[in-house]
Amino acid sequence: MNGPNRSQAARPATPPVPQYETKAFVYCPICTHTVEGIVVATGKTAKVKPGQKCSRCSAALDPGYIMRLDRAA
Ligand SMILES: [Zn+2]
Repeated sequence: MNGPNRSQAARPATPPVPQYETKAFVYCPICTHTVEGIVVATGKTAKVKPGQKCSRCSAALDPGYIMRLDRAA
């Protein structure tokens, strides 16, 4: 009845990758300043958390670059 290759009953769509938010210094390309922001670190990569605004020029920090992670933990 069952074939020799028994497939997993529930195949997870996304593997469980540890994800956490942390503070970091984000370079704002609009005003060319580095401001503090929240980034979402996933595994070995980190992205700027969407929806943040630069504290200097109020531009969206989404396209900003992460300069340095501030690992408080
Ligand atoms: Zn800015």
